[in-house]
Amino acid sequence: MRTLKRYTQTWPLDRPFVIARGASTSIDVIRVEIHQDGHVGTGESKPTPRYGHSVESVLEDIDEVSLAIEQGIDRQALLERLPAGPARNALDCALWSLECALEGVTPTARLGPPIGQEIVTAHTISIASPEDMAEAARKELAQGARLLKIKLNDEQVVERVHAVREAAPDVRLIIDANEAWAPEHVEQYCYALASLNVEMIEQPLPAGDDAMLADFSHPVSLCADESCHTRADVAHLKGRYEMINIKLDKSGGLTEALAMVEAAHEHGMAIMVGCMLGTSMAMRAALPVAARASIVDLDGPIWLSDDDTPALDYRNGWVRETRSP
Ligand SMILES: [Mg+2]
Repeated sequence: MRTLKRYTQTWPLDRPFVIARGASTSIDVIRVEIHQDGHVGTGESKPTPRYGHSVESVLEDIDEVSLAIEQGIDRQALLERLPAGPARNALDCALWSLECALEGVTPTARLGPPIGQEIVTAHTISIASPEDMAEAARKELAQGARLLKIKLNDEQVVERVHAVREAAPDVRLIIDANEAWAPEHVEQYCYALASLNVEMIEQPLPAGDDAMLADFSHPVSLCADESCHTRADVAHLKGRYEMINIKLDKSGGLTEALAMVEAAHEHGMAIMVGCMLGTSMAMRAALPVAARASIVDLDGPIWLSDDDTPALDYRNGWVRETRSP
């Protein structure tokens, strides 16, 4: 017999996180525990208002299937019962974690990466003045960052990236515009940022309004984030983007995320794995996708004042799993 528990937590950030859509100083997450035969599977998700989700809506979605979960439905059945999104993510990850605990292993023992493998993760620079972003970049470099992700809106695009590039001449740079660029600016920004040795640009245009990306040859790889939630989205993104950003809160869990990896590879597209911020519990669940990704952006816990899951170690610009309970 299984029992399901779900609860919410608020985690303060240790500095404001500013992107094109707004700023946050704390995050609300939903955690799920599924208990069976003395074992427990855990999952965590974070609702994003951009996709119409709130703490309340996620709890309602979880409650809708709680009886079915307690009666023993599996991950495949869950894909049919709930749409992609944070509620299914927390439940799917808890089912993976329980399934593996019952076998005496962990999801990463089954799917990779190996315990202790160092995976370079992006460190995010949030939106501020060019000078402040350059200063933030210097701080991240001092902590060992090897890959910086610069958040942008449609203002001071080249100035901001130029300032960070001057502060960090040798580091790998990627950009996230979070849908904020005007269509008439995209091509010129792409060429200007290519000359600053930017290696990838995430979601320049609004999801659903990105068809023009197929109209010019990209000097920098483009990555679909807000435009790509599940495997069903992948085929029509080919030609507009070279890469997709898989986040478990969008895909609705690891099961769908692994299917997205296959779909992307079938279409010749590369994989990025990202996060909506969150504790190490949520990042650890995404590690099997990180093992299959060419860009990893799982720096959520670095933004928190505190983190209660000591299974991950962040230092020198990488993340690694440190133990296998
Ligand atoms: Mg993004």
